[in-house]
Amino acid sequence: MQLALIRLVQDETTQQGLPLYIVGGAVRDLILGRPLNDFDLTVEGDAISLARALARKHGGGVTVHAKFGTAKWFLPRNLTSDTHPHDTLDLISARSETYKQPGALPTVAFGTIEDDLRRRDFTINAMAIRLDGAHFGELRDYLHGRDDLQNRLIRVMHPRSFVDDPTRMYRAVRYEVRYGFRLVEDTLALIPEARTFVEKLSPQRIRHELDLILDEPNAVAMLKRLHELDLLTCIHPALGNFDKSKLATVKAQDPVLQTRNSRWLLWLMHLTDQEIEFINDRLRFKSDLLKMLHSAALLETNLPALSGLKPSEIVELLEGYSIKALEVFSIALQDEQQKSILNKYLSEWWGVKPKTTGHDLKKLGIPPGPKYNEILRRLRAAWLDGEVKTEEQEKNLLSNLLE
Ligand code: ATP
Ligand code: MG
Repeated sequence: MQLALIRLVQDETTQQGLPLYIVGGAVRDLILGRPLNDFDLTVEGDAISLARALARKHGGGVTVHAKFGTAKWFLPRNLTSDTHPHDTLDLISARSETYKQPGALPTVAFGTIEDDLRRRDFTINAMAIRLDGAHFGELRDYLHGRDDLQNRLIRVMHPRSFVDDPTRMYRAVRYEVRYGFRLVEDTLALIPEARTFVEKLSPQRIRHELDLILDEPNAVAMLKRLHELDLLTCIHPALGNFDKSKLATVKAQDPVLQTRNSRWLLWLMHLTDQEIEFINDRLRFKSDLLKMLHSAALLETNLPALSGLKPSEIVELLEGYSIKALEVFSIALQDEQQKSILNKYLSEWWGVKPKTTGHDLKKLGIPPGPKYNEILRRLRAAWLDGEVKTEEQEKNLLSNLLE
């Protein structure tokens, strides 16, 4: 289906005499023989009018980003498939970019495919394969990306690359570990100077790179490598102690840890509440994650106190914490006693409820108010601490309470 779709664009560009390419990561993965997750198509010319022509002929809709010369073709029903997840195809105009300020977004202008390849991050990501007409299959490799791919090397195109865009240092490590490649010496040598420019990156941009890393199967190895290259403290000094992080020590096979947020938690849960706040000032976490991080930080300090408490008291304490944070925390905990308390809470205590409900209290003629909550909590505590074991005993306790 993807092929049929490419064929349509191919036919249209061939007719228009417009050079069409598959570019960047898709070419890299094609040459490596790895599955393509996403791809877009680049034309040397106006991608927006190409997208409109395609929609006129084959149906579907188009949205455009005039400033960047890009268009999104929302495919008609007969062209969508399971293998093309978003039911859209991105069409891009080849462009050149210049950086006015380190870390800021670049200034964009239309350009040739060569310009377009020269603005990219690494040589292995800077190849294109032409798709239109008689040129089908021609490789454009001005920067010798194919050799670097063969030799398993990550190389920037020019010495200012990391200063222009410090996110590339994080991308470099991601590719290095993902493919088992390594940074060439010249590129590696650029990191110390560029490191100071990381602070110029907006919270969204640096967090996005870290999110991408945490989404990778080898996230832990990537963070270790970033730590080794001293690329974590320049995000925030509190990220320096990676060896102390639970993510560095735990065997991260547990299904609970397979999501991005769990990995964030496991990475940062050894920090104090205040350090979490400082890091949040830099990275601006989404609110659900921030809540979990605070939960975990507070729990770390409160956990030792749980050991001497009754189940009902433990439930009172743990109720406010995010369940997700507790789950991740219980996996990471070293102390067996604390671990079993948490597991007990997660598997049993958390769900304990008295048989009596607010509805029942109303039927007994008690005026609604804070009293309800008080009574129901008291009944729950009785179940948790083994004070009542049957519905009958709960009823008795309730009548005692109401006297
Ligand atoms: P992945 O498999 O992680 O998606 P990718 O190579 O497809 O890798 P994308 O982030 O999807 O990466 O970006 C597509 C292409 O855009 C890259 O191959 C690269 O050529 C270029 N690119 C992406 N980010 C940058 C950047 N910060 N600086 C320069 N070029 C970039
Ligand atoms: Mg990609």
